[in-house]
Amino acid sequence: MTTTTKGVNVRIVRTQVAGGARYGLVEGTSVTLLPSSLSERELVGLKPKEILDLDHGPEDVVALETVAVLAPLAKPSKIICVGLNYRDHATETGQDFPPTPLIFAKFPSSIIGPDEEISWPSEITSSVDWEGELAVVIGRAARDITPAEAPDHVFGYTVANDVSARDVQFSDGQWVRGKSLDSFCPLGPWIVTADEFDPEAGAAIRTRVNGEVMQESRTDQLIFPVSEIVSWFSTQFTLNPGDVILTGTPGGVGAFREPPIRLGAGDVVEVTIEGIGTLVNPVVGGQ
Ligand code: MG
Repeated sequence: MTTTTKGVNVRIVRTQVAGGARYGLVEGTSVTLLPSSLSERELVGLKPKEILDLDHGPEDVVALETVAVLAPLAKPSKIICVGLNYRDHATETGQDFPPTPLIFAKFPSSIIGPDEEISWPSEITSSVDWEGELAVVIGRAARDITPAEAPDHVFGYTVANDVSARDVQFSDGQWVRGKSLDSFCPLGPWIVTADEFDPEAGAAIRTRVNGEVMQESRTDQLIFPVSEIVSWFSTQFTLNPGDVILTGTPGGVGAFREPPIRLGAGDVVEVTIEGIGTLVNPVVGGQ
């Protein structure tokens, strides 16, 4: 185990309960529901200790298996992605390592949660691929900060799948449409607070499709580590509380395999990051 446990064990899940979406703290097989008034913007401004101190009663403790788990964030002001940020992935695409982080975006409307279905319009794409990634959740707003200051602006981490329509991505010449179809940003299953997880310690990241390992690396293999990404982005634009950064995918995506593999109906994609959890999404394919 290479992740750190400097603080309390805080895993934050967003659940669908009677009355709407509500955040909760996962402890083993139970969830302690947090105040229903707590918004995602307010949540990411809190320290782990402050989250633990939020009021709750015995009726707020429910079994994890009885609640529907949603994407941990529904309304980030932006989802910013880093391309070609693992050496083996840059190499498999035949491209040089970028001199600065390669930025693209996914629209927030592409977010889905754990166990939700990945689908796409069959008239738009017939070449859909997986990209397992570590996702950073911004806490305090950041503008023009240094890498050393970056940790103070990171609320936590979750798991993402940067689902990609390769035919659209490559024919457009820029990537936003091919990365932003509805359901193309699975996130979850929960957020681990930043005091609990150090990506530079080298947590294992692994993507399985139908149980077969397709991608396997460690989070310390990023060309640009999280602190440099957050700093660099903040020199270009303001990072808002709750913004999500997808940090790049390791080698082993479907498009560059020999022969290439495309996702289709009946497939199941699982992305696991050691110390965070596993994000599972079934694929229903073109509709
Ligand atoms: Mg990606």
